Amino acid sequence: MHQGKVALVTGSTSGIGLAIARTFAQNGANVVINGFGDKDAIEQERSGIEKDFGVKAIYSGADMSKGDQIAAMVADAGKALGSVDILVNNAGIQFVSPVEDFPVEKWDQIIAINLSAAFHASRAAVPGMKAKKWGRIINTASAHALVASPFKSAYVSAKHGVAGLTKTVALETAAHGITVNAICPGYVWTPLVEKQIPDTMAARNLTREQVIKDVLLAAQPTKEFVTVEEISGLALYLTSDLARSITGAILSIDGGWTAA
Ligand code: NAD
Repeated sequence: MHQGKVALVTGSTSGIGLAIARTFAQNGANVVINGFGDKDAIEQERSGIEKDFGVKAIYSGADMSKGDQIAAMVADAGKALGSVDILVNNAGIQFVSPVEDFPVEKWDQIIAINLSAAFHASRAAVPGMKAKKWGRIINTASAHALVASPFKSAYVSAKHGVAGLTKTVALETAAHGITVNAICPGYVWTPLVEKQIPDTMAARNLTREQVIKDVLLAAQPTKEFVTVEEISGLALYLTSDLARSITGAILSIDGGWTAA
């Protein structure tokens, strides 16, 4: 389906991003993976993608909190593989704290990585997409792009911002064969969720089991975590030609959470 196309997935050394990058590669795209982590483990992921799917995979260590590094990552991808056809703005971090104690540097970091990075990458990638009259931008937002939870002021603000950015860039690019959509997962079992359990235990004075059952899955009517495969399946569909009329959409994949 995506033979010869170039897909850049930010935050793809782990969790949702890694599943999306592997799905695009499985469908023929050359991919750029990005994110932090152990150097050897990342190289294993990169070479594993090439070996498993017979495509080219390159790694960018660009820091998604730095606009200049993001622009350079998109330009370098263009030089190595050809201009980016599919951009997935997925990198994200979380921090849980009451607003009055929320560290200012954590606020700035979350806004930079979870929101501004999507602006910088879209800004850099749209000209190449317009030139080809085809492009797909997918922003990994969250159920928190639509509803709030206490103690997540920066994350909820950033994700609501991503929804606004998605709609705006969709309108600007609609006549150029480009679609821009946001995927809004509920809780997906990834390191991002696992890492927030201790802080949520402290903030709410709960045990680990209570956090999983009464905080995380309490919001999700299915009472099950969403899987990374379900999300990468939706991402793949959004990049298909059948989905060419879906743009500016904020798509929930949250086990019914935001229906309540
Ligand atoms: P994860 O922690 O498994 O992966 C996050 C990725 O982002 C990693 O590859 C990490 O290295 C990368 N990253 C973090 N900071 C970075 C930086 N400064 N520069 C470059 N890369 C950076 O998390 P995940 O659960 O797979 O989350 C992926 C996205 O999905 C995030 O935007 C998150 O907000 C969103 N999301 C996750 C859930 C969930 O329940 N897991 C739910 C809704 C939305």
